[in-house]
Amino acid sequence: SLPLDSKRVLVTAAGQGIGRASALAFARAGAEVLATDINPDTLKTLDGEAGIKTRVLDVLKDDAVAATVAETGPFDVLFNCAGFVHAGSVLEMSDKDLDFAFDLNVRAMIRTIRAVLPGMIERGGGAIINMASVASSIKGVPNRCAYGVTKAAVIGLTKSVAADYVGKGIRCNAICPGTVESPSLQERMKAQGDYETARAAFIARQPMGRLGTPEEIAELALHLATATYTTGQAYAIDGGWTI
Ligand code: NAD
Repeated sequence: SLPLDSKRVLVTAAGQGIGRASALAFARAGAEVLATDINPDTLKTLDGEAGIKTRVLDVLKDDAVAATVAETGPFDVLFNCAGFVHAGSVLEMSDKDLDFAFDLNVRAMIRTIRAVLPGMIERGGGAIINMASVASSIKGVPNRCAYGVTKAAVIGLTKSVAADYVGKGIRCNAICPGTVESPSLQERMKAQGDYETARAAFIARQPMGRLGTPEEIAELALHLATATYTTGQAYAIDGGWTI
């Protein structure tokens, strides 16, 4: 038997990057996966994958999150992967950027947790995995104020949910990656003008001398879905960035 046999898993931001790799890893581990994303085009790349169903979901919308879970739940595992990286220091970030970062990086996780948790409690257990970053309460990273603030809040949310529901069989952990090869990282490198220099700088901050892969992060997500004695933890997976 497989580790996630007969388990039902909801993944947000599953169209590309870490979310997509994780949806595939969960499905290979035997789960029935609902892979969601705001982008229908990238979701189509999962069509026909065994164990995966797809559905467009904008996690900024309360009603859509509630309706999706009402129609497709209950779930044993929730992987909150959606998130956005703003550039800028505290003096450079706009209130609009900060509001958006809180809405997508933090409140969206609260939305999905509120929608999924009652079903988990009713079933007697569940695992929630929240995507944070080492750029958070773990490490100050230049030019990432809105991002670092909101990813630190993800760790706080993770510990709060873990503390409140540990007696109900619910586990809640956070993943804190370093720099991971993904479509949005490609965009960030291109946006800096000189792609090769930007790429070299991202690689240079990883002591292992390379970027992480979405598949490596997916392995940790899979582990946390099944790690039955682990809750309330923030797991760095960062190529040695925070040694
Ligand atoms: P990505 O940034 O390339 O893709 C993000 C996905 O989120 C896209 O598929 C996009 O359509 C989806 N999305 C955006 N807004 C959405 C919304 N409102 N509702 C639903 N989906 C939405 O992927 P990535 O780089 O693998 O990042 C995934 C997560 O990992 C993010 O939370 C990110 O902050 C975190 N992370 C990434 C890195 C990295 O270096 N790539 C490092 C640390 C943490």
